[in-house]
Amino acid sequence: MKVTNKKGNTFYCLNECIFDPSHRGNESAIVQQADGRLVYQCYHDSCKDKTWKDARQLISKDAKLTQFMKNLQYDNAILKKLNENKNKTFTAAELYRRNIGPARYAVKKIIPEGLTLLCGNPKTGKSYLSLDIAVSIVEGKMIFGQIPVDQGAVLYLALEDGERRLQERLLTVGGKIANEDDLHFSTTWDCLDEGGKEKLIEKIDEIDNLKLVIIDTLGKIRPASAKKDLYQQDYKIIGNLKDIADHFKVPMVVVHHMRKMGSEDIFEKVSGTYGLTGAADTILVLDRKRESDLASLKITGRDIEEGSYSLKFEKENCTWKFTDEVVDKPQLNGMSGEVVELINNNNGSMESKDIVSNLTKKGHKESSVRWWLSELVKKKILSRDGRGVYKTHQQTNNTNILDNTNITNKANITNKPIRLNNIGSLEPSPINKYSETPINTGDDEFICNIGNIGDVSDSNEP
Ligand SMILES: [Zn+2]
Repeated sequence: MKVTNKKGNTFYCLNECIFDPSHRGNESAIVQQADGRLVYQCYHDSCKDKTWKDARQLISKDAKLTQFMKNLQYDNAILKKLNENKNKTFTAAELYRRNIGPARYAVKKIIPEGLTLLCGNPKTGKSYLSLDIAVSIVEGKMIFGQIPVDQGAVLYLALEDGERRLQERLLTVGGKIANEDDLHFSTTWDCLDEGGKEKLIEKIDEIDNLKLVIIDTLGKIRPASAKKDLYQQDYKIIGNLKDIADHFKVPMVVVHHMRKMGSEDIFEKVSGTYGLTGAADTILVLDRKRESDLASLKITGRDIEEGSYSLKFEKENCTWKFTDEVVDKPQLNGMSGEVVELINNNNGSMESKDIVSNLTKKGHKESSVRWWLSELVKKKILSRDGRGVYKTHQQTNNTNILDNTNITNKANITNKPIRLNNIGSLEPSPINKYSETPINTGDDEFICNIGNIGDVSDSNEP
């Protein structure tokens, strides 16, 4: 069926007119007007006098058309509901009275309600991670072996997989899972602007006790871009999905690829414009190390504590587990290493003039030493107080990671892994907690590049 849109009216063109089958080839249409009302339209004069009432009578005799019309009305009702609360103001008094409750999580500390972007380079194991999360929620078992989930149903749109591949993956990751009727899959879905949005709403509404929606990947449901206003388009796509997630209060994870090169900030490597990351509530980056089974899962977002988890890929069942192994090794080479080592040898605190005089004696230029000092402060390796005293960053926060003088062998200076031994139950935790020591979100100098990574693949190739 050809669908066109003019001035907010949607034309569902029919192969043949319901009044006269000789009116063929998209000359007649069921039209949904901007306000949701349906009308019938045929371009032939002989159909001019036909009313919507006439059309409905004929449609009621056609099971397929009847269902189609029902869907249109149903979708419209939900879309209306979605927009119900838009453009409304409320007072502070009303806000105080509202019983909003704490944020709910599908996966504690990792996937809160709202929209989460899960990003990573191709073949980092994002799809295995998604499937593992889905299976864990359906079965109600800990994810990564340690984090509690909100048990219930999951809708997983595995759009980069065929059924055979999905079956293989499911058997590998989950084996024969419990509550198998609660895990809903699709391997094909219409683009959001071609009915995919409405079908998604309908499906989410239909599944009982739905705890998570996973869309893998964004590219598969994203409308073809018009090459202009890309930021606006990106923001709108994620915004649309977020509206649905918010309306149904069901967390939604959208899987997306990363750009390989470029930015210093790993969250800026998410491909597409800032519209994607700007509109998402939470961003997860699965940062897999080159030719390694190790990865870090970095988290940032509006209502979530920032963090970075060290994960290891278990090949036998293709799942990620927490590891104590060092994933993000900061490599402080050359001048940066020298500066930090010097300060460490001075009990982790040193005045700028002493640093400069010490290093210029070793033949470095003063301007270069000062440049590195400011860089290391920017990277949160060092902190600087008002009197020009530089401190190794972690010491200012009373951790003793830098006790050892040989900084180049010390792990996790910028990305201290979060210990999950005491993560507790899935009680909603207080939100909007401002973390005083934001994790370093990455830098090419301090984080290994991820590129080709060996034999674990989540690509489409058989
Ligand atoms: Zn006609």
